[in-house]
Amino acid sequence: MRITVLGKSPAWQDAGGACSGYLVEGSRGGETTRLLVDCGNGVFGKLRERVDYAAVDAVVVSHLHADHFLDLVPYAYALAYAPRRAPAPVPGRPRLLAPPGARETLRRVTGAWGSDDLVERAFDVCEYDPSDVLEIGTLKIRFHSVPHFVPTWAIEVRDADGGRFTYGADCRPCDELVAFARGTDLLMVEATLAHPEHAEPRGHLTPREAGEHARRAGARRLVVTHFPDELGERWVMEEARLGFGREHVEIAREGATFIV
Ligand SMILES: [Zn+2]
Ligand SMILES: [Zn+2]
Repeated sequence: MRITVLGKSPAWQDAGGACSGYLVEGSRGGETTRLLVDCGNGVFGKLRERVDYAAVDAVVVSHLHADHFLDLVPYAYALAYAPRRAPAPVPGRPRLLAPPGARETLRRVTGAWGSDDLVERAFDVCEYDPSDVLEIGTLKIRFHSVPHFVPTWAIEVRDADGGRFTYGADCRPCDELVAFARGTDLLMVEATLAHPEHAEPRGHLTPREAGEHARRAGARRLVVTHFPDELGERWVMEEARLGFGREHVEIAREGATFIV
């Protein structure tokens, strides 16, 4: 399984960057499955630099914050109106695995300019039941609730060989992510903050807290993501090392790939 960082910015993009989006590709025999995990603002253009957007099997969304779903809008426009498709509808629409309640939220967003069903026309929309295990081609997807400002699900992608990639989405310090990620091959954890928030409830992690979650989970590898470029990679990495208790910490840079 190969994971490519399309965007790793927090809710505001890095200079030239994109918000959350990770392309996960799994192969077995001659079959390749392409899964886009989150589709925040800026991600669609980055996806297009890598693969044909019509060749993505499914998009899975962790939660309904703009930096994790907003580029579903241009993605839907492309599927609906791209010149090579017009005027026929897109055959074999990609699946959109979205959190419970997403259909209504997406209708409200695109309904603001009168295009209520834009996303539903472009994608085969499925509001996932977080207790289900979903199969997309050669990949299996599981979910686990993590505490954040809105209902949010950490996502595990398992490939045909049993390799596990665990994506923590956004969360405050918690036991839920630790339990879900127990023994995972690669844990990707957000590190939005320079300092813990003073206001309760908290919603995000610092790089050191990200490392602590990976240590407690016994993750084999840690990739730190969702931090603003203003924090500086060096500081983020040093803090994550302290939390993880190991020297080897990896950083999500746009275009970086991780093989699990
Ligand atoms: Zn976020
Ligand atoms: Zn969020």
